[in-house]
Amino acid sequence: MIDLLIKNGAVITMDGERRVIEGGDVAIDGGKIIEVGKGLAYEAKKTLSAEGCVVCPGFINGHSHVYQSLIEGLGYDMHFDPWNWRFLFPVVSKVTPENARAGAALAALELIKNGVTTISDHWYLHTNMNNIYQVTEVFDRAGLRAQMVFGLLDQTFAGERIDSEYMTMIQSEDMLIKEARRYHKTWHKNRRTTVALGPGSTEDISESLMIKTVKLAKELDINVSTHVAGWIEINSYTIRHFGERDLEHFHSLGLTGPRGVLFHAVWLSDREIEIVADTGTKVVHCPIANAYLGYGIAPVSQMLSRGITVGLGTDGAASYTYDMLEVARTAAMLQKATKLDAESVTAEETMEMLTTSGAKVLGLEDEIGALEVGKKADVIVVDFKAPHLLPVGRWLPKLIYSARGSDVLHTIVEGQIVMEDRKVLTMDEQKVMEDAMANREDLIERAGQETRDLEAMPWPKSGPAWRAIVK
Ligand SMILES: [Zn+2]
Repeated sequence: MIDLLIKNGAVITMDGERRVIEGGDVAIDGGKIIEVGKGLAYEAKKTLSAEGCVVCPGFINGHSHVYQSLIEGLGYDMHFDPWNWRFLFPVVSKVTPENARAGAALAALELIKNGVTTISDHWYLHTNMNNIYQVTEVFDRAGLRAQMVFGLLDQTFAGERIDSEYMTMIQSEDMLIKEARRYHKTWHKNRRTTVALGPGSTEDISESLMIKTVKLAKELDINVSTHVAGWIEINSYTIRHFGERDLEHFHSLGLTGPRGVLFHAVWLSDREIEIVADTGTKVVHCPIANAYLGYGIAPVSQMLSRGITVGLGTDGAASYTYDMLEVARTAAMLQKATKLDAESVTAEETMEMLTTSGAKVLGLEDEIGALEVGKKADVIVVDFKAPHLLPVGRWLPKLIYSARGSDVLHTIVEGQIVMEDRKVLTMDEQKVMEDAMANREDLIERAGQETRDLEAMPWPKSGPAWRAIVK
């Protein structure tokens, strides 16, 4: 008697041979996959029919900032810097552990409903050192696999000064190293959670803390994951301060290598792409966030052709979505459109970014990312019995180019069914949504009158002037 049997689906295995098994079954016991094939004859405590459905590895969201879940829609269609000043800082500088918990719960709910089984969250909002523990507990209880990136900012937040009243999330170098150790000890390899270290970006962290972070990551044998060359201005900043481009500077400081993860990597020179390839450094591509903010399009097809491991991420509220299928589709479309080449990124490569490569980025490729014997059973079932997904036959292009996160029927993490027939079993959906609204109101109330006025602003008739920065 095994724990779970998924029967008779189109199984996109993502195994070494990239088998797609029509009418296939997946047998799961003790949280692991014990067999994948046709007509498996197991007695199971629970059987899920996958007839007319795709069965595939759960999606991996390699980069997010879930604290922003509570402030989505508060300021929009704006450049990052004025958005920070007018909307982000006044609100997030006041985030309490309770707000952190409510935002993470909303994000967790949305992730599970979109078939995401692994989330990597870069949490640097240390307005209270308990915040990150609250978030991690929420993910753990929701049943998600998480790689939590402990953020380190001792200088600025998104380039803003430490002497501003809003910079409550910036902490001293000694405090951050001490707290990073404590957090790692508590949560690394604890159930479904692993820990990485995450400097904000070159401008957010002192060189001394950056060097200590690299040293600590080596000692603990964990990833260092950080924003690199995400916006064009950062190269001017690093050239002015260090005489090097952003990635070149990270390389000089020892951040490149198989344990180095670059978020965005939009503005890389050809030489820098060679450095990333030669050092085995990994990339998380966030195409919607990059596009929404007007930051550009990362050279993904070039990176893939150089053998660089590229995963996908949503980034923060700027993306307005946790639907990884939407992110994946955008990644492929942007490359095709800008390269004038329909073959520049294929459906197969896109699926790899969503699963196997996403796992490699997090250093979890031996455990997740494919449906093969011995791997942890992070599996989703996507319902194709819908007009926009029919007719079927060739399943993968329909999954990548037509399916939506809301087509995911069941979400399974390590053999545990966390969503069945679109109902999340590990969370009280109604309560999570009510808590999120209450916590958003609490935050906006405490942010002050200007934020309340901005929230109530009428339809902008006079163009972008209404968003003009007032300091
Ligand atoms: Zn980010």
